[in-house]
Amino acid sequence: MKTPTLYIVIPCYNEEKVLPISQEIFLEELTLLISKNKITNDSKVLFVNDGSKDKTWEIICDLAKKDSHFIGISQSRNRGHQNAVLAGLMEAKDKCDITISIDCDGQDDVKVMEQMVDEYMNGADVVYGVRDNRDTDTFFKRNTAVMFYKLINALGGEVVENHADYRLMSTRALNAFSEFKEVNLFLRGLVPLVGFKSANVYYKRNERLAGDTHYPLSKMFYLAFDGITSLSVKPLNMITVFGVIVSLISFVLMIWAFITQLMGHTVAGWASMTCIVCFLGGIQLISIGVIGMYIGKIYMEVKARPRYIISERTEDNNPEN
Ligand code: UDP
Ligand code: MG
Repeated sequence: MKTPTLYIVIPCYNEEKVLPISQEIFLEELTLLISKNKITNDSKVLFVNDGSKDKTWEIICDLAKKDSHFIGISQSRNRGHQNAVLAGLMEAKDKCDITISIDCDGQDDVKVMEQMVDEYMNGADVVYGVRDNRDTDTFFKRNTAVMFYKLINALGGEVVENHADYRLMSTRALNAFSEFKEVNLFLRGLVPLVGFKSANVYYKRNERLAGDTHYPLSKMFYLAFDGITSLSVKPLNMITVFGVIVSLISFVLMIWAFITQLMGHTVAGWASMTCIVCFLGGIQLISIGVIGMYIGKIYMEVKARPRYIISERTEDNNPEN
């Protein structure tokens, strides 16, 4: 197989603190791989500015001026991590043979990129970067993460455990992936559905080099819900099954109430009545909520709005690159 051209795709949102530090790490790894003849000299580091409000885009433009291995695109506004990665992958797919997506905060170890490329040369179209420790996470994050993967797999999603969005994809896989038109993006769940031969490489995840996380608890839960509802309709089936069970129990209770009534033991019954009403009310609200979440998704899908809009490219300023 011929030496591939690699594009490293890096989403950046308000990363002026960490970008000047991490850019060096990415360039170093890229030049190392080029010098080892693992990838061609046309390989690039592609930054995707996700509508940052700070100096991120200026930094990217400066980098592109300094070294032709750096290029960048800017989204017309902030659209979230998943859409930023998608924009970068779609931008890269016709210009290279393989892409590796990675966060810009230096948490994921660039050293395993070489292994990823090797796996690609061995025939894998998708290579997942999997963290083999969660020591740097809090106790809470570690356990919620485990629960999340268990839940999503039990509900019929196929998510590689402990894999975030650090992965290699070949252009073949990306072309197939571009046919997945959904606007509710959960890349981790979608990529396994594309298929093709895949492999895992393992690495240790570090602390962020600088700056703060963009995923506070509330956003993490939202991502988890988003993941589940975009991958599986099992919760809807579960609601139906649960509804049937509750109805059966209620039916038995009704018979019981009727018999006690006939036997003349008139029950005071206020407490039990209140419990049942509250219970059923709660179940109904939750069920309507879950159904509502799916309807919300259908609403967004039907509109089929663009998933990303690119407003600028560094290549426009540096035509010689
Ligand atoms: N990010 C983005 N758009 C957003 C939020 C985050 O492009 O709206 C990028 C961010 O710059 C980083 C990556 O997504 O490169 C992951 O974000 P972060 O490190 O904050 O998440 P964590 O690693 O804490 O889960
Ligand atoms: Mg991070």
